Amino acid sequence: MGVHRCRKCAADSVINMPQHRLALCASHFVEWVEKSTLDFIGKHRMFEPQDRVLVAVSGGKDSLSLWRILLNLGFHADGLYIDLGIDAGCAYSKRSGDYVRNFAQNLAPDVRLHILDLASAYGRAVPELAGRRAGGRKKLCSVCGLVKRHEMNRIAHELGYDAIVTGHNLDDEAAVLFGNTLRWDVEYLVRQSPVLPGAALGLAKRVKPLARFYERETAAYAIVSNIDYIEDECPFSKGATSIRYKEVLNSMEAGSPGTKLQFYYSFLRARKKEIFPGYDRPDLQPCEKCGQATGIPGLCAFCRLTDPEKAGGQ
Ligand code: AMP
Ligand code: ZN
Ligand code: ZN
Repeated sequence: MGVHRCRKCAADSVINMPQHRLALCASHFVEWVEKSTLDFIGKHRMFEPQDRVLVAVSGGKDSLSLWRILLNLGFHADGLYIDLGIDAGCAYSKRSGDYVRNFAQNLAPDVRLHILDLASAYGRAVPELAGRRAGGRKKLCSVCGLVKRHEMNRIAHELGYDAIVTGHNLDDEAAVLFGNTLRWDVEYLVRQSPVLPGAALGLAKRVKPLARFYERETAAYAIVSNIDYIEDECPFSKGATSIRYKEVLNSMEAGSPGTKLQFYYSFLRARKKEIFPGYDRPDLQPCEKCGQATGIPGLCAFCRLTDPEKAGGQ
């Protein structure tokens, strides 16, 4: 510790990033993160300075840092917190929401935080929607993902935002890529991107401006910027396969710094060359109830899940 000096001003560094051969002091690190985010947004044409974007904030370090970065860069960025109703003996959703509300208190008055409480909106929260016995944790995580995607999209569309912005970092993206590649899951591979363009039938654009940052970089940004965030992972994520993929990638990274970044960037370059032609999106149609795009005729997966007639079943 203390051996590295800031590349820009020679003060003591707060972080050394061997993958970039770069050590920086607190203020130069903040500047570097913000400028790199702006470059990444521009390079992938995520959104324009005049756009209104909706940041999905979970109360964790990535999404709260992202909200702060976008506001510091001068973007019009509002927040959305979805209360998933996860308690698991540690009041997880309630505590996550407290961090988000606390963060939002100190923002300019024209910045809005939207909160959606699933249980009040649909009568049931994620654990009840997933069913107590059926499928266990895996089912719960897939229901949770489905609910978040549908509701982020619905709210962005209804409120007229130009893009939904999420806090996925490089460790998240590289782990997903690793899983998709292990299974050669081409349908997922062709859709994995830091930018998913909007489409007809109310599909909002989805972007991930932090996908180029290592998790330790977003954590360092949060700490240096005095952002108070929930440190616990979701209690249901324990034992998830994605955590094992992260461990494998971390051990490779330790041996050769930059592995994760290269893996992800090389994939993005290959993807641009359309390495998997012929895997277009299936034809989409509007859900009969909510109107959101779905690949299957009739009700979309979200509307089938939240159908009040199914309440109390399983
Ligand atoms: P996760 O799937 O928990 O790794 O979260 C990935 C991203 O989804 C976060 O960085 C947030 O942008 C968003 N997100 C996760 N949980 C919520 C939530 N409860 N409310 C709003 N956004 C969320
Ligand atoms: Zn410096
Ligand atoms: Zn629907």
